[in-house]
Amino acid sequence: MEKTPYDMAMAQLDKCAEIIKLDPNMHEILKYPKRVLCVYVPVMMDNGKVKVFKGFRSQHNDALGPFKGGVRFHPNVTMEEVMALSIWMTWKCAVASIPLGGGKGGIVCDPKSMSLGELERLSRGYFAAIRHIVGPQLDIPAPDVNSSPREMAWFLDEYNKYLGYNAPGVVTGKPVEIGGSEGRGEATGRGLSFVAREAAKKLGIEFKKASVVVQGFGNVGYYSAKFMEEFGCKIIGLSDSKGGIFNPAGLSVEKVMKYKQNTGGVQDFPGATNVTNEELLELKCDILIPAALENQITEKNANKIKARLVLEGANGPTTPKADNILYEMGIMVVPDILANAGGVSTSYFEWVQNLQNYYWPYEEVVQKLDKLMVKAFNNVYDAYTRYKVEMRMAAYICAVERVTKAMKLRGWC
Ligand code: GLU
Repeated sequence: MEKTPYDMAMAQLDKCAEIIKLDPNMHEILKYPKRVLCVYVPVMMDNGKVKVFKGFRSQHNDALGPFKGGVRFHPNVTMEEVMALSIWMTWKCAVASIPLGGGKGGIVCDPKSMSLGELERLSRGYFAAIRHIVGPQLDIPAPDVNSSPREMAWFLDEYNKYLGYNAPGVVTGKPVEIGGSEGRGEATGRGLSFVAREAAKKLGIEFKKASVVVQGFGNVGYYSAKFMEEFGCKIIGLSDSKGGIFNPAGLSVEKVMKYKQNTGGVQDFPGATNVTNEELLELKCDILIPAALENQITEKNANKIKARLVLEGANGPTTPKADNILYEMGIMVVPDILANAGGVSTSYFEWVQNLQNYYWPYEEVVQKLDKLMVKAFNNVYDAYTRYKVEMRMAAYICAVERVTKAMKLRGWC
């Protein structure tokens, strides 16, 4: 059976603990979130019947700062998954060196089958149900799978109704008009492209000519592909949840996006060959970007990966066993907690702007993000060469050391 994301998070932490000889008491604390809230949200559906939706908010660690992390809307959300994702947020914020901790939320629902009104009522109901454990200095939600600035605007509005005044710092990833940051929408993909540039340099891959395959065409997949294309890379494979397409001569990301908007999917795109999501991962390319969901590269398909460099746009797409196989094969995997940290880092910039009520121009945000991602990459790369471990463990070492230092200073252990 496949490992759950929580099993994966534990296996990764255990491995890191062994390498750095982590204090067992610290290790014990880090295995669990500080708090997990489960809520049942009644929503009046368009057919006049009430349906109750289950939701979670997991708050893992706030030694470095307030809890931070997105809220996903997906039928397969479970409490354990949200717990694992909140643990990964702790490491991600630490790798990015931002003063925030780890949190995550999830709502069990199929947003694609819901009307706009139903989604708004669900979003507001969920936020009202968790409002006593969130706040600009406490826990700051953001977008994740199937959520966007639209949902963040509803979250913010619901929270402000409860407060009686405006507190834009309670969520990030908001529309720019109501306190969002310039550049936040595309930040995860942009950050990933900066990390890809740095990793390619180290591996001797000519970045401007690299061939790239991207699994997933949501916010992260689309913007990763778009910015890689802007850097000059050739995007030869793309996919969404329904399937993928392949064209060795290169795909225009904008054209594929327009096609998807018109037809509902990327398959049958003119001039390209249809492939399944499994086949897509096994295409020969320089750079592979899994940017969909967890558990995509496993012990079953890891030895069929033909990329030289894998950048995890999604959270948890590679299982620990697959990690070992790829490492043995000499394929570098830049882990989620580094590769996709551009999103939460720009969330941090948004939060800082909200707290100061002073807003930065687009170019400034992009420049700051570039600097932050390069620094994070170099920190991890240093640990990678020093400890002679895979990039994921190198990132874990940086993160766990930073978080446990803060825990120690606070006297938690
Ligand atoms: N959901 C994103 C992530 O997994 C962004 C979180 C945030 O901006 O707080 O990193």
